[in-house]
Amino acid sequence: MLLSDAPYINLFYNHFFGIGGLFVFVLGCCVGSFLNVVIWRLPLGMNLSVPASHCPKCGSQIKLYDNIPIIAWLVLRGKCRECKIAIPPRYIIIEACTGLMWFAVVYSGKYYDLPLSQVMGMLILTSVLISASLIDIETRTIPIQLSYFGICFALIFSLAFPQSQLLSSDHGLFEIQPAYSFLNELNPRLRSLFHCLFNITIAYIFMYLCAKLGKKVFGQHKVICDPPVQVKLNKTCCQAEDDEPLEWKEILTEKDEKIQFFTNDDGKIEINSEGKATKNGLDWKIEPEKKIFVKNLNFPSAVIGGGDLKLITLCSAFIGIQGSLVSLGFASFLGMIYLAISKREVKMTQRAIPFAPFIAIAAYSWILLWPFFIEKIRLFIEALRS
Ligand SMILES: [Zn+2]
Repeated sequence: MLLSDAPYINLFYNHFFGIGGLFVFVLGCCVGSFLNVVIWRLPLGMNLSVPASHCPKCGSQIKLYDNIPIIAWLVLRGKCRECKIAIPPRYIIIEACTGLMWFAVVYSGKYYDLPLSQVMGMLILTSVLISASLIDIETRTIPIQLSYFGICFALIFSLAFPQSQLLSSDHGLFEIQPAYSFLNELNPRLRSLFHCLFNITIAYIFMYLCAKLGKKVFGQHKVICDPPVQVKLNKTCCQAEDDEPLEWKEILTEKDEKIQFFTNDDGKIEINSEGKATKNGLDWKIEPEKKIFVKNLNFPSAVIGGGDLKLITLCSAFIGIQGSLVSLGFASFLGMIYLAISKREVKMTQRAIPFAPFIAIAAYSWILLWPFFIEKIRLFIEALRS
């Protein structure tokens, strides 16, 4: 027997502009409140539930009624109840945005008449994307736990609610299902699990190849320093004047990669991820510290980071291969526009722009507007053919 979500659909869809929608918004705000904890604690490697929420300044535990999303912040006028330190408005903004985004997802589910289980999957995806984006903006990394959580959730969910997966393939651009129509005889749960695994695998392989190819084609990042910049080198990191130290392991993700510095005195220094250096081809010691003046440098840059790769793979578990690939294309487009508009000066330690927010915007747009995307791409393909 399948777990049916039909009885709940009545509550949410038929009473959406009433109790259903209000419930979704409030629940979304509560999840947003939890996402605040995730965004703060996950990059620090802290446990998400212990210790209980407390004020970072005075350490007083935050009472249950002061944890009520949005309202508590407004009642306390954005200050800690005990020590009156300001609580950044960011908290209330994330809570309200999560609530509104949940509301919009359920509304789109009602509009397209999707099974509630599929909508629930989209809500989880939306929440993971919000936290991944904000953590990426702050730390330039996407914690691997987020992607693993999402993928595990999708797999378990596909077993529990087969209709959440089987339907998601029906409104795609290309018909993938016949490729494994032999599975039609199978139990729907197994079919749905297979479908989810299939999406994850294909998306991962595709993204992995893209990342490899991207590195081959656009892999070298050249920076010219005019006038020359003083850079301190040591065994673990480098640091340009007026800039944050940058670890070798952060710039060089693979063993055979090297960063090249071309110095003022026409020297060529190469350093690998373990901090082993050569100068003009000969071994060179950078312990305890060396100062050089750099004219220009080359370093390998990843077009697609490891975190981005896993985030797209995670998206495919919920919105299918087509949704995730369209999202990747749209995200790259948004990223390029951002780079063109912001015209950011390339500093030596400038890392790739955080890409997760663009993936999140694109995937969220797909969740709300997939028929629009499909229509546009169909027209585009037809135009190419004629
Ligand atoms: Zn306090």
